[in-house]
Amino acid sequence: MVHFVGAGPGAKDLITMRGHKYLSEADVIIYAGSLVNEELLKYAKNGAEIHNSAHMTLEEVIEVIKKAEKENKMTVRLHTGDSSIYGAIREQIDILESLNISYDVVPGVSSFCGAAASLNAEYTLPNVSQSVIITRMEGRTSVPERESIRSFASHKSTMVLFLSSSLTEELSKELIEGGYEKDTPVAVVYKATWPEEKIFRCTIETLHQTMTDNNINKTALILVGNFLGNNYERSELYNPKFTHEFREGIK
Ligand code: SAH
Repeated sequence: MVHFVGAGPGAKDLITMRGHKYLSEADVIIYAGSLVNEELLKYAKNGAEIHNSAHMTLEEVIEVIKKAEKENKMTVRLHTGDSSIYGAIREQIDILESLNISYDVVPGVSSFCGAAASLNAEYTLPNVSQSVIITRMEGRTSVPERESIRSFASHKSTMVLFLSSSLTEELSKELIEGGYEKDTPVAVVYKATWPEEKIFRCTIETLHQTMTDNNINKTALILVGNFLGNNYERSELYNPKFTHEFREGIK
């Protein structure tokens, strides 16, 4: 059996209880060493076989799993954050299916949730934005043209940019050309929830300078939008005048 486990954004106590349980029982652990906090490996049992997938190909990962299966061992494949976001689990799942190896997926706290918590922020403020666009700049992995930053920017909704910290000059240009005002607030969260976390606040216009001045070019999320500002409306749900299924509003 293989358990894909979301490790959470970094802090070693932000893994789920189910993820922790599987991690502590695993005979074999394959972890994404470029981003998973190695402190989490302390939850492994004595004698667990540990592999860092940062140095491995998909084929090598599968070989390790196949060998473990043959020996009737349980494998945890530990991915950073939640494996549904840029986690490359689908290609592993399809091979496991073809090999008739059983597996399941344990969700994790994605770094975009960790970053919001670090900022004490809410992405979906009433009358500001009710949508979160999770995307990335095109890198070696291409992004479909219909999903260009420019086209998303025209919605002026909350945007979360993964995998884009080394491309901020182009990013700002695209955001502005797409329709965001230059002074739209931006927050950069480097290593959200790790002990070495850093937060930088700037605007779309000053983003690139902020990244360069602080030497940030990886392991950061770039959050864009007026949810970082001070204007919003309070929620209807907690409005004294609002009646809903569980509460009678005052007249
Ligand atoms: N599955 C992961 C994302 C993997 S893609 C998740 O759910 O978070 C890798 C990118 O995620 C990094 O380039 C960076 O943009 C972002 N990232 C991952 N962990 C992060 C953290 N703790 N703080 C800020 N950004 C992080």
